Amino acid sequence: MDIFSLPKDLGIRTKIILSVVVLLLFVAILFFWASYMHEKKGLLANMQDSAIALNRVLTITITNQKNIAEKVNLQTLVEELSLTEGLFGVWVIDKNCRITSATFREQVGEIASRRLVSEAMEKGYYVSGFDIEMGENVYEGVYPLKKKNQIFALVRVAFELNEYFRIPPAARVKLLEQMKANSRIMAESLSYTIKNMYDVNELIHLQMLVDRLIQGSNSISWIMIVDDDSRIIACSDLGKVGMIANDKGIREIINGANIYTRIFPRQKIYMVDMPLKFGDELKGVVSIGCDATKYYTHLSEILHFILLISFMGIVLGFVLSFHLANPIIMPIKRLIEATKKLSEGNLSQRATVISKDEIGTLAKAFNQMAEDLSITNKKIDEYRKTLEEKVRLRTKQLEISNQELREMQNELIQADIAKSEFLSIASHELRTPLTTLLGYSELLLTRTLTESQKTEFLGFINEESIRLSNIVEDILDISRIESQEGIRFDKKSLNLDELLVKIVRFYSEANTDYRFITDIKQDLPMVNADCEKIEQSIKNLLDNAIKYSTGGDIKCKAFEKDNMVWISIQDYGMGIPEKDLPFIFDKFYRVNQKNRSHIGGTGLGLFILKFIIESHGGEIDLKSKEGKGTTISFGLPIFQQNKV
Ligand code: ADP
Repeated sequence: MDIFSLPKDLGIRTKIILSVVVLLLFVAILFFWASYMHEKKGLLANMQDSAIALNRVLTITITNQKNIAEKVNLQTLVEELSLTEGLFGVWVIDKNCRITSATFREQVGEIASRRLVSEAMEKGYYVSGFDIEMGENVYEGVYPLKKKNQIFALVRVAFELNEYFRIPPAARVKLLEQMKANSRIMAESLSYTIKNMYDVNELIHLQMLVDRLIQGSNSISWIMIVDDDSRIIACSDLGKVGMIANDKGIREIINGANIYTRIFPRQKIYMVDMPLKFGDELKGVVSIGCDATKYYTHLSEILHFILLISFMGIVLGFVLSFHLANPIIMPIKRLIEATKKLSEGNLSQRATVISKDEIGTLAKAFNQMAEDLSITNKKIDEYRKTLEEKVRLRTKQLEISNQELREMQNELIQADIAKSEFLSIASHELRTPLTTLLGYSELLLTRTLTESQKTEFLGFINEESIRLSNIVEDILDISRIESQEGIRFDKKSLNLDELLVKIVRFYSEANTDYRFITDIKQDLPMVNADCEKIEQSIKNLLDNAIKYSTGGDIKCKAFEKDNMVWISIQDYGMGIPEKDLPFIFDKFYRVNQKNRSHIGGTGLGLFILKFIIESHGGEIDLKSKEGKGTTISFGLPIFQQNKV
């Protein structure tokens, strides 16, 4: 992951604020870090300068001593003497009772507060005796060294008393004498060596100098002077005098470095190691520890200052970036609002273009997009409307076509049914009169008959011939109705009441079982009609009235109503069931009832009647009740010319 990239789910405002804050913080920290480092370097340089100055002072002081190596020779000598068998230890003590060199190196610099040392100092000559102070079981001798009758040093030599206590008391005196003599010899021989040194007190002066420097300086907390063999010859920590210094700095300087510095943060000391040179000759190393407390205090003050400035940078960054972010954020917010409204379907929504920057360009592009979208949407709407209209029209057409197809199919089915019915009815209806005709004509031909019989038979033959002719006429009418040309009517002015009277008269004579009652209004107007077809229609009604009633009255009326001349035939026969009434004028429709199954017929009569009447612009009326009788009437429009 890129550590410099901001998290993706942050808002632009937060990103800007963060960027500005981080930038300001970075600049502030960079600036103050540079100052901090500069300051640090300056402080260190200051400390180093004071260390160098001190080193110079020390070098000048020590150069005034004749030979710094001498004091080391003395310690070496003491250590070598200490190897003598039976010897417990050797000490060289200055006139101030400070131990200058000792078998036990840690005692160097200490004050020798031994009784015999004080005694020798007081008396000014060699003193010896047992010393069992501080648990040391020794016999010692202290020899004062004098120059111009002045004590300048003391040599203390101590022998172990182990041997002394082991031997018998008689021999002890001798051993003691021997030890006394040895001690004196050793002290004296050592004193010769020391006397040859320029001034053993100088050593002590160096240590004193170090002590005073430490006491008098606030800025120096550590001084250590080491000879060229790494032995500590003076140190602010007195316990270290005489030890071998093994610090890295000391080694570096002895190996030729000019300066070596390091800082001890815990002790707050800045350590500067420098060579102690007499001319070009390395005599030792001076190690100076500067007190770095002020340095650390100062640094922490700077750090606090940096923290304060950084904090102020953050606050400033927030305020600045907030003001900087607003002009960027607000147009974006407005754009987001506009986008939302657009996505909710408000295509008239536009973004306000204020700036000419990238966001302004974005707003412009958005507006262009919204405009395009709006135009496209309008086009789609129009197209949809046209499409809907087209679909609606097409559906309607299809529905019509379907309806037509259905009707056609029904018609075809009906036609098929009608054809079958017609075939069965026609064959039956034609066969009946034909059989009768054949029967009687056979009788006439084969039998010897009386005249009256012949007349009767010929009457039957005539009757059936008429019936046959009627059936054939009906079938012909049907085929004409259904053909393109239809029935041709020869319309003339016609007096319906006269026609009715004529037909009824004929029927009354032929059907004596029935009483034909006529009710004919006087002066009925003329109609314009085909006389033959209207006669056929009236006969059809009378035939039915006779067929579907068993004797009785048949009322025949002629009257005027609603600008029409009406003919009405009423019988009191079996009537028509209510359920059959709506279909009674349909082609081939016959009432399917047991009690009329023996009655012949084709179901064409009423269909043809209706066709004829309607073709004359007339109307038909039917009233019937099952078991009570039937009245069928038709009216023809009054012939207007006639009326005038
Ligand atoms: P058809 O008489 O040849 O069967 P129509 O078309 O003349 O055919 O008559 C259709 C049907 O109407 C008849 O089958 C008959 O059942 C019924 N019908 C017609 N006239 C009468 C009537 N006056 N009384 C009872 N039923 C009638």
